[in-house]
Amino acid sequence: MPSGVNAAMIARPSPEQFADIHRRFQAPVSRFDCGKMCAPLNGGEPVCCSTDHAIPIMDKAEYKLLRQKSDLWRPFRPKDKHAREVVSDMATSCIATECKGAKFCERDNRSLACRSFPFFPYLTAKDELIGLSYYWYFEDRCWVISNLGVADAKFVREFIAAYETLFVLDPEERGAFRDQSAAMRRTFSRWRRPIPLIGRDGGYFKILRGGRMVPTDVDTFRKHGPYRSDKIYARAVKEANAAAAT
Ligand code: SF4
Ligand code: SF4
Repeated sequence: MPSGVNAAMIARPSPEQFADIHRRFQAPVSRFDCGKMCAPLNGGEPVCCSTDHAIPIMDKAEYKLLRQKSDLWRPFRPKDKHAREVVSDMATSCIATECKGAKFCERDNRSLACRSFPFFPYLTAKDELIGLSYYWYFEDRCWVISNLGVADAKFVREFIAAYETLFVLDPEERGAFRDQSAAMRRTFSRWRRPIPLIGRDGGYFKILRGGRMVPTDVDTFRKHGPYRSDKIYARAVKEANAAAAT
């Protein structure tokens, strides 16, 4: 950063610029209603729409835009130690939020994070945006992660365009996803697993230890937790229903 310039003086994206990103990123992840797959194992609510699992963090300009349009969102009030830590780790340009819940979802007023979930823009060690990977800590709960082939080509195109626009407006955001990608490389290297990736122009890849990107068939990607097979899923739903009835 040049001397005499501080973080507060760097231009931030405006609410209007977030409106433009939202307008151009409307494609759903998939034509399947994936919430119908994870909700039966999460008390009837889609996992990514529950602050017990995921606290939506937004840029303050995005929050301002959504508040101007709707009362769907409000500031998130942490109730436990983990939530307090998430909130205290946030960049000062961000705000932790929560919506009214899946029953009240307003498609046009979803945040960028809602539109993207479970994916994030994957950046290489050389800072190249090569595609989409996913928030790996949701492997055991998010059905899409076990079924990456359901992600639509239109979604992938709009996702990449949205983040390329955002990264020009907000280099800090690019840095945050660069860090996220590096954390994924460390984790998967420890687990001795290749990183699954949807390429920015489509296609499926594995990122090997050392960073080599190898084309692969979507069927080679792992399935996780209750989504490993139809039989395991049916049993998990039965157990969840029985637990709910007691
Ligand atoms: S994206 Fe994943 S967690 Fe969210 S509703 Fe779909 S399957 Fe559930
Ligand atoms: S706005 Fe909709 S998609 Fe986003 S967390 Fe709320 S219910 Fe889920």
